[in-house]
Amino acid sequence: MAFFCDFDGTLTPIRRNPDAVGLAPRVRGLIEELAESGIIVGVVSGRKIGDVRKRVGLRRIWYGGAHGLFLRDREGRTHSLAKPGHKARIREAANLLARQIRGASGLRIERKIATVALHYRGAPLKSQAIARNAVARAMERDPRLCLLASKKVWGLLPDAQSDKWGAISFIMKHEQRRNSDGPWLVIFIGDDATDERAFARMSGISIVVGEKTKTAARYWLRSPGEVRKFLERLNATRR
Ligand SMILES: [Mg+2]
Repeated sequence: MAFFCDFDGTLTPIRRNPDAVGLAPRVRGLIEELAESGIIVGVVSGRKIGDVRKRVGLRRIWYGGAHGLFLRDREGRTHSLAKPGHKARIREAANLLARQIRGASGLRIERKIATVALHYRGAPLKSQAIARNAVARAMERDPRLCLLASKKVWGLLPDAQSDKWGAISFIMKHEQRRNSDGPWLVIFIGDDATDERAFARMSGISIVVGEKTKTAARYWLRSPGEVRKFLERLNATRR
């Protein structure tokens, strides 16, 4: 079995300030127990890889940052799924966004290595319209960019290939080369637009978190609290 999950909104409730989000010790313990029982475990987030690793705080599991563009394996080696040219195109898009939103209140640009995010949580409607226009301009300029609309944030990725399922597939291939076990039953839990793209492409057990009316996932859990209960039961079946 291989277990993958998103971080924000899946393992932890969404907070107004993303910097204030931490992992409950109980959930950390459950993920650790899962990894120690011998299954492959990975946390794949839209955050920077060092950020999500710090917040989860476990060794011997995989981490994915920037929606899976960057990976860190169980031995601590990093892998980049970003292609040459991605960084430069994202830098250009970020610069264009910065010019477009200059002077608008409540907007914040987050530059990551190969993605850029435009946060509009709490911004006045006028600013939100400016943000929407800025994103449209950036995509007009570089039509290969892929837009991810999440909770109060527009994300731009270099192209449509860079999604979490690409990252999970990379991890499975990597693990298969190292040991002949497999094929594995893949479980993936997430709550976001980027997770939906993985649900649509994956086989295995896909689980969406939250009260979604439209989803490509096969199963659903209501909240991060129910994710915790799921982890408890999953561990119980392996003891
Ligand atoms: Mg999420």
